[in-house]
Amino acid sequence: MIITDTHTHLYSEAFDDDRDDMMQRAFNLGITRFFVPAIDSSYTKAMFKLEQDYPDNVFLMMGLHPTSVKENYKEELVHVEKQLSERHFIAIGEIGIDLYWDKSTLKIQQEAFRYQIKLAKKYQLPIVIHCRESFNEIFEILEEEKGEDLFGIFHCFTGTQEQAQKAISYNMKLGIGGVVTFKNGKIDQFLNQIDLKHIVLETDSPYLAPTPYRGKRNESSYIINVLEKLSYIYGVTAKEIAEITTANSKEVFKV
Ligand SMILES: [Zn+2]
Repeated sequence: MIITDTHTHLYSEAFDDDRDDMMQRAFNLGITRFFVPAIDSSYTKAMFKLEQDYPDNVFLMMGLHPTSVKENYKEELVHVEKQLSERHFIAIGEIGIDLYWDKSTLKIQQEAFRYQIKLAKKYQLPIVIHCRESFNEIFEILEEEKGEDLFGIFHCFTGTQEQAQKAISYNMKLGIGGVVTFKNGKIDQFLNQIDLKHIVLETDSPYLAPTPYRGKRNESSYIINVLEKLSYIYGVTAKEIAEITTANSKEVFKV
């Protein structure tokens, strides 16, 4: 059984004390594919180090996270573009709009999101979307940019069934993580109406730990709790969920 964590910040300082042990715990459970989103230039070095340490397992994205879109965002986008021109990345991410942390930067967040979608098209890469309290704003831009050359993952999907269908209509898979295990997470109520071919697994570790670890540091091995919840929701074995979602991740990332 091969399990794919399509969204994990393995380079986070939260893992500095026990990263190798944490990785080993995941390997022992069959979690062997890790897709690692960027945040901003301050993490690039740590991402490369991670890739060097786990060359067969770690796949790096490049992009500017919406909460890092600040006064210096143009310099940050130059950094993203320079990295893309120098070497291969697996996706543009994570990118999008976050109106939970800061509404005042909406305009430049929209600009950075549009710009990075254009980069994804240029390099024929998937995008990994971060959407927090911003479904309308994200959909508005996807509507403008939609087409066969735009595809990817709606990371940490927490919307309604209608929003799920809409995301899928824009060639997006739904990244499902710890929220599906929460009592008030809501998506568990309708997820079985969404075909499994649209679903990928993620942890977003070190954030958003699933029940029973909610509130603690998350790590990739906890994806098993997400897998088990999906097995219950869909009424199929965990092995089947792992196979289908890993195949879906290969379809998106081409690896
Ligand atoms: Zn993330």
